[in-house]
Amino acid sequence: MATRLHLTRLLSTPISTELIEEMKPTNDSEERARGRRAVTPCIGGQSRLEAFTLVEILVVTAIIAILAALIFPALSGARVSANTVQCANNMRQIGAALIAYCGEHEGDFPTTMHTEDDEKKAWIYTLGPYLQRVDQVRICPSDPEGPQRLKDKGTSYILNEYIAVPSMDRFGNVKESPSNLRALASPARTLTAFIVADGSSSDHTHSRNWKAWNRVYTDICPDRHRSGKASKARDQGVANYLYADGHVAQIEASEFKKLIDEGQNPALPPK
Ligand SMILES: [Zn+2]
Repeated sequence: MATRLHLTRLLSTPISTELIEEMKPTNDSEERARGRRAVTPCIGGQSRLEAFTLVEILVVTAIIAILAALIFPALSGARVSANTVQCANNMRQIGAALIAYCGEHEGDFPTTMHTEDDEKKAWIYTLGPYLQRVDQVRICPSDPEGPQRLKDKGTSYILNEYIAVPSMDRFGNVKESPSNLRALASPARTLTAFIVADGSSSDHTHSRNWKAWNRVYTDICPDRHRSGKASKARDQGVANYLYADGHVAQIEASEFKKLIDEGQNPALPPK
């Protein structure tokens, strides 16, 4: 008895009187006289006023998911390219400062922490007076260790060993002096600065040892600018490279890897 009462109550859920009026069967003449349109019942007797069906909800959800899948990579792609441009701009300013420094030091590039084990002697600080805002240009916006480097007086950019570090024999004699800007055969083809690898706090590369790809990507970050995680081979993405004439070029990690795999060393100044 109680169940029946409960059901009756459920079935008598209040419906507006206007809706009841509309749902009454009418004939055309009556309709014309009243000047109103009847509500056409849908197939299966369901009214148009009924809520969305499960299929409709699923279709809308699927469309939203497709749109999201299209929009999010585009947004992350836009962020990657904005960061790449800002990083290239940092490197261009460093390039101009290097040229100005060399101009006042007979073509010599600044020394690195390889010879001076003191972060105050890192080349980026030597360049300080030649850079308007050293703190803004020394960090790459895509560098995950950027905030830490900013605190530790580090930089996201490292100088090419060939231009900044002498090569010594085991008796401590200089085997090869670092290249001098004025003596370079082709400044437009000589790499001066790279983006540092994650986990490295060095201010210069060890590019004389670039005999295998893993030696390269533990020194520099050839895929700094990419969408998502680094690939296992570290060959998906691009990085910016600074040349001795002050220009910055973007090189694909796969292209850089190919040179190393072929036994070439892109860091070696061309003769
Ligand atoms: Zn070193």
